[in-house]
Amino acid sequence: MASQYKIVVGLEIHVHLATRTKIFCGCELVYGDTANTHVCPVCLGMPGSLPVMNKKALEFSILTGLALNCAIAPFTKWDRKSYYYPDLPKNYQISQYDLPFSEHGYIEIPAGDGSNKKIGIIRAHLEEDAGKNTHTLGNFSAVDLNRAGTPLLEIVTEPDMNTPEEVGALARELQRIVRFLGVSEADMQKGHMRFEPNVNLHIERDGQVFKTPISEVKNLNSFRAIERSVAYEAQRQYAEFLETGKTLQMGNKRTYGWDDAKQMTVLQREKEEAHDYRYFPDPDLVPVEVDDAWLNEIKSRLCELPLQMQNRFVSEYGLSDYDAGVLTADRATAEFFDTAVKLGADAKRVCNLLTQTGLKLANEKGVTVNQLGIGPEQLVQLAKMADAGDISATAATTIFEEMAVTGGDPMQIAEQKNLIQKSDTGEIESLVDQVLAENAQAVEDAKSNPKKAKKAMGFLMGQVMQKSKGQANPKIVSQILNKKLK
Ligand code: ZN
Ligand code: MN
Repeated sequence: MASQYKIVVGLEIHVHLATRTKIFCGCELVYGDTANTHVCPVCLGMPGSLPVMNKKALEFSILTGLALNCAIAPFTKWDRKSYYYPDLPKNYQISQYDLPFSEHGYIEIPAGDGSNKKIGIIRAHLEEDAGKNTHTLGNFSAVDLNRAGTPLLEIVTEPDMNTPEEVGALARELQRIVRFLGVSEADMQKGHMRFEPNVNLHIERDGQVFKTPISEVKNLNSFRAIERSVAYEAQRQYAEFLETGKTLQMGNKRTYGWDDAKQMTVLQREKEEAHDYRYFPDPDLVPVEVDDAWLNEIKSRLCELPLQMQNRFVSEYGLSDYDAGVLTADRATAEFFDTAVKLGADAKRVCNLLTQTGLKLANEKGVTVNQLGIGPEQLVQLAKMADAGDISATAATTIFEEMAVTGGDPMQIAEQKNLIQKSDTGEIESLVDQVLAENAQAVEDAKSNPKKAKKAMGFLMGQVMQKSKGQANPKIVSQILNKKLK
């Protein structure tokens, strides 16, 4: 089935920016507070009130635009987009129409086969979010304007995605990027990111390509919903094409919602009437000029992007793509790992310590790994102790956990807890000799009974470890045993 058509998807994304205050007034941005407690004449849309641009919101936007390889406009302005809705008391949204602050970029996403795919960015502009209507009061509807005026970055991609997985990958990658940049918490459950895929199919028949009408799926806020709605739309559109032969024409774009319980898209508006938003420049706001000095200052805040870092961890440090992905899920962990490796620790060892122990501990405490009270130097020391065979891998975990509690030195903890492995070959050899002398039958089996050799060897190994009170380096014990039993 899949080979009979190509899925074509572009995304429109809205991202809440993590500024302290709203975009055009001084009201604080607080999620989940009592309704209408963070409002003022500006965000309530009172006549005569005047907006003032939040500089930080534009800087966060430009930083994101740069990370998305967009051209940043030296001159950008604000426009009024008129529509009437109870959660928009001004009856217009302040947005950017013909002169967005950035255009013509691209984002790289993991293609799933270890390579990257470039998805074009048509434009990114800044606007304000509306309030929120609620319909849980019986006969009444209510409006909460705490959200009104939240800075909202709108990003529009080219229709360059061809599978549901690619659409999901873009959404996840963008989340990682804005978190790395520190411009958004990008918490999907809090509605910090909302996605609207535009989906249609290109169907080849007798050397001709038929394009199905475009569906826009509104307001998705989970990665699963994004992927499933695209997959569902592809199937639905193909079935519809087989049945009706309907193809893409001007004005037959349809709007759908996603019913998560039924796992299907639901038609909202059949024919998108040509909207007349009556865009015009906002006379209350001055246009913004971004000069080179300002732009360069913002550029200096760019960091290595997560996907680049992930690829570097694979190519330079030899990690698996999976491990590199886990470490680059957040910037603090990625940089903590990178610092430890640059200080001389073995990459695979540190990766294991962080992914198997560090992230678990951090998760339990609700912090990031760099906030566990363990410095990268301590981690390097711990990794080196494990590499040298001074401690076992299990002991390394125990010490890591103890360090997170006491912040102590790994070697001291190892000594206190009796976790230092004995690697002194002379000492181990004498233990081995004792064990061999005491266990003639096992020695006999290990040497000349192929059926029982393995078991006998394990038994002797266990005896030596027991004699050393578990402190002998098992690698060395095994080497000496093997040598003596040849
Ligand atoms: Zn306000
Ligand atoms: Mn928008």
